[in-house]
Amino acid sequence: MLIVSVMMSLMYEEIAPLPCVDKLAFDTQKQAEAAALTADYQRGITLKTYQCRHCGLWHLSSAS
Ligand SMILES: [Zn+2]
Repeated sequence: MLIVSVMMSLMYEEIAPLPCVDKLAFDTQKQAEAAALTADYQRGITLKTYQCRHCGLWHLSSAS
């Protein structure tokens, strides 16, 4: 039943949570960079911004 399994996987795609669902997300790179600067100021953490290929928004990741 190939068709059934294809349909199942399509449904799963729709309801599966994004892998980045727990991350902070920003609409623009500017907003993400502002948040990264704040983290640097307040906690001494250097973060870099990147555009997510899953949701299209901007996230922060620790520079390493
Ligand atoms: Zn994302």
